[in-house]
Amino acid sequence: MDLKAIRDLSLKILLESIRYKTVLGDQYGDIVDYYKEVLSQHGVHVTIHRVPDEYVKKYVPEKFNPWKPRYILIARVGYGDKVLQFNGHYDVVPPGDGWRSDPFNPIISEGRVYGRGSTDMKGGIAAFLSTLIYYAEREPSLVLEGVLVPDEEIGGLAGTGYLVRELDSRPNWVVIAEPSGLERVYNGHRGVSWFIIKVFGRQAHGSAPWLGDNALEKMLVYASRFIGEYRKLLDIKKSVFNYEDPLAAKPTVNPGGILISPGAVNIVPGVSGFSIDRRLIVEEKADEVVREVRDLASRITSETGIESVVEVLEASNPAYTPESSVIVQSIREAAVKAIGVEPKPVICTGGLDLRYYSEKGVEAIAYGPGVIGLAHQPNEYIVLEDLYKAISVYVKLVEILEGGG
Ligand SMILES: [Zn+2]
Repeated sequence: MDLKAIRDLSLKILLESIRYKTVLGDQYGDIVDYYKEVLSQHGVHVTIHRVPDEYVKKYVPEKFNPWKPRYILIARVGYGDKVLQFNGHYDVVPPGDGWRSDPFNPIISEGRVYGRGSTDMKGGIAAFLSTLIYYAEREPSLVLEGVLVPDEEIGGLAGTGYLVRELDSRPNWVVIAEPSGLERVYNGHRGVSWFIIKVFGRQAHGSAPWLGDNALEKMLVYASRFIGEYRKLLDIKKSVFNYEDPLAAKPTVNPGGILISPGAVNIVPGVSGFSIDRRLIVEEKADEVVREVRDLASRITSETGIESVVEVLEASNPAYTPESSVIVQSIREAAVKAIGVEPKPVICTGGLDLRYYSEKGVEAIAYGPGVIGLAHQPNEYIVLEDLYKAISVYVKLVEILEGGG
């Protein structure tokens, strides 16, 4: 197949894949079967792994349907001892309100494809699967892998987490085809630590508050001290790396997305609490942040006499691949040669699946077509020309890495 035919095929794959409502375990089996069929028809070798039910139950919370099976598809072409892996998640977030068209019935309008997942990231998947198909009859002297994973939108433990930690996937280079846009490449992302901090009083009937000890009033004192002192503590930290938004180069603390309270007007709350969404710069480690939060909480408790407890909901590390690495240099070179654009390496503000590779020392980046601002939005779309350009960059990247990078 020539590049023109490959482009047409990528559009067909994109349109067909959007029709699968791959939200929280739904139609995961159907979509991997679909991808397998297309790839097999074009001479790409495919294996499908079903993530063991026990593993899914252990790592996927109840609200994310752990009883529904999770699948990882691994496609391969080429030979040699170096492996370039493309990674894409086939799960999408629920459509939400505000769509002008059916989110799972894609439409093409003015050079764009509209539909849930067009940008995040069935477009990226269509781009790299087409690249594999392009190379299937050309036998590159480099192994090309395309892995399709579930659950990225809920943390990735039963997706890329399982692939890297349990299937021991250790390619030389990884490109996650998340929608960075073609002008930038994510060579890392921030880490995430989530906490609930609870403070305690004594519960009583609201008609006789003198019998209780109001935990909300204590929490207000405690939280304002905690937040103020924590921000002051973090103020001296600043990352030396380049972030997509310069304000993300400092650690951030966002309190209060969740509040804990008994939920009745006529109760003197005996417990009250608040969440903390703490984002880590590349230089930080999640376990150090957990210790930092626990230390600060117990110091404020001892200074104020307000009893507190810290619960850790999430602690995941940032990811980082140096700008001087082979994969970052090669994608920049590939983009310059293929589309005349030099993507700028930046650290992503949010979290991605890169961290699973980073923790094993694998060079990984995220680079793919789409508009990151449209991810998770109604009327999500991808510009078709960007999809085609991404294929040109991926094809060129393979050529460059065949030469040893
Ligand atoms: Zn995504």
